[in-house]
Amino acid sequence: MTASVIDGKEASARLKNGIAKAVADLKSKHGITPGLATVLVGDDPASHVYVASKQKTAVELGMASFQHDLKAETSQEELLALVRKLNADPKVNGILVQMPLPKHLDAIKVITAIDPAKDVDGLHPESAGRLVAGADSLVSCTPLGCLMLLKDVLGDLTGKNAVVIGRSILVGKPVALLLLNENCTVTIAHSRTKDLAGICRTADILVAAVGKLEMVRGDWIKPGATVIDVGINPIPSPDGKRRLRGDVNYAEASQVAGAITPVPGGVGPMTIACLMVNTLKAACAQRGITDVAVPTKLPPKI
Ligand code: NDP
Repeated sequence: MTASVIDGKEASARLKNGIAKAVADLKSKHGITPGLATVLVGDDPASHVYVASKQKTAVELGMASFQHDLKAETSQEELLALVRKLNADPKVNGILVQMPLPKHLDAIKVITAIDPAKDVDGLHPESAGRLVAGADSLVSCTPLGCLMLLKDVLGDLTGKNAVVIGRSILVGKPVALLLLNENCTVTIAHSRTKDLAGICRTADILVAAVGKLEMVRGDWIKPGATVIDVGINPIPSPDGKRRLRGDVNYAEASQVAGAITPVPGGVGPMTIACLMVNTLKAACAQRGITDVAVPTKLPPKI
């Protein structure tokens, strides 16, 4: 069997198209332009690339983008003061503080200072609590992207056995909760799990969010399973260019799985698109607007 490729670039283009239409609708019906504020502290080159890409996408989709670049030596109080200012700014509907922060700053304190209504990264404890409760919430972007891809490929997920490898607040736990809310039977595996390969072999849906290069082998996968590879692992390359591979051994897994995301070009592009969904959703929710169709799933292929 050769797995079908779940093309995250194509999927994210479809989603962005739907978002752009909804943004235009919000403007024409209510005169509101959703605004995303991004906060970057320090000079981490990868973070600069990620933030620039988020700003560019926001503008492409018709949103307003407000970028705040702060020096690496910014104090906790200065950063919290900026967050409070953005919380109070009606033009800002979503606030994203790019992680990781420099070591002297307390990320938890910063995240909890963000108004939960503007928590477009979905990391505030209130957002996490709402997800646990099965209530509508701003869900962190990568897990939301994984769910949208899975529903696009499989439709109704009810009754599927799902295995999520990884239990981080950012990816593993929210992915598992989203799948549980979709009526999957969910197993969360982690570094202390016994017989990881055996557990993975029970999965109709396997989500790998570990950060270990090609750890998941072909014989860990149930024939026909749907595999979502969240991992981003740089590999050495002779020309010195940065190349990435996932947590799943793609060459092996694609011989066994029914469908699989590549790395790069799978989950990654969906993450930014889902940040835009959250910004639009936050903008509508903050004003009680219900007559704009915020995409909750991938629009169909044309
Ligand atoms: P974390 O390091 O926070 O969590 C990794 C998880 O993997 C932990 O729960 C850990 O278990 C588990 N783990 C580690 N080693 C093993 C092992 N040998 N067997 C089983 N489980 C193991 O990472 P994140 O969740 O933040 O990210 C995971 C991956 O996803 C990374 O590669 C990251 O770069 C990528 N990522 C990709 C995104 C995208 O947009 N595509 C966005 C965000 C992340 P334990 O809890 O027991 O330590």
